[in-house]
Amino acid sequence: LSYSAIELFKTCPRKYYYNYILKLPKKDWPWFTFGEFVHLVLELFYKYVKYLNRKNTKIDNKKLMARAFDAAQKIFEKKTPGRINQKQILEAKEVLKAYFDYIKDTNLVPFAIEKSFQFNLAEDVVFVGFIDRIDKTGEKSYKIVDYKTSKKTSKTKESRQLSIYAMAFRMLMNEDIELSKRLEFVKFLDRKPDDVNHDSSKDSELMEELKRDAAEIKIARESFKDEDWVAKSNNFCGICDFKDRCNKDTKKTTGLDFLDD
Ligand code: SF4
Repeated sequence: LSYSAIELFKTCPRKYYYNYILKLPKKDWPWFTFGEFVHLVLELFYKYVKYLNRKNTKIDNKKLMARAFDAAQKIFEKKTPGRINQKQILEAKEVLKAYFDYIKDTNLVPFAIEKSFQFNLAEDVVFVGFIDRIDKTGEKSYKIVDYKTSKKTSKTKESRQLSIYAMAFRMLMNEDIELSKRLEFVKFLDRKPDDVNHDSSKDSELMEELKRDAAEIKIARESFKDEDWVAKSNNFCGICDFKDRCNKDTKKTTGLDFLDD
């Protein structure tokens, strides 16, 4: 299970069924492509920075960002030719130029990039995830960073995803550490990151919640027949890959209200 699988099951079990059980083909929505591309550029950029820093090599960070951009473009083209179009490339260039100006005076050497983790939720259920970036902020303190390319995402304080990631990182480190977390709005820099300290005393409660979610999904996967996977209308029906298959009236939902452009 991943964070998105659990959230999808809670939002609309029917969509979970189409996506994770029937594995029906999905549309490549432009904002997903854009977000994935920007994530890849940042991943490569910080990997270069970290590598060269370890080698004690003088770094021109601006050049590294340009190199990361070119490399990401090549990776995209090789894997899925034509998936990202010229307009998106130009937009990503502008967004990342502005982002570079925004971060250039900060300590750019991260502790970890795209850090994978997993933990058990039940005997045969594993939660898996990747943390975009982890910064070391002190002797025993770290910051969990998640990039967002849409504006209307929840605040850091309300992000269950970041709380899970912080809890997972604490388990990985297996020592007494202080944690803060941040949603970084790469495309909307006017939305200042709202750093929040992670309250580890709530981790066990969070773990219990995840275990309950996992148990519910496990029962559904093992016993639900086709008609048991209920369709629940929600704000994302308008952009649901499977809206033509499900019988819900999705006309009232916009599905696009989380986007700002
Ligand atoms: S259109 Fe809405 S109700 Fe139907 S499967 Fe998709 S998300 Fe669920």
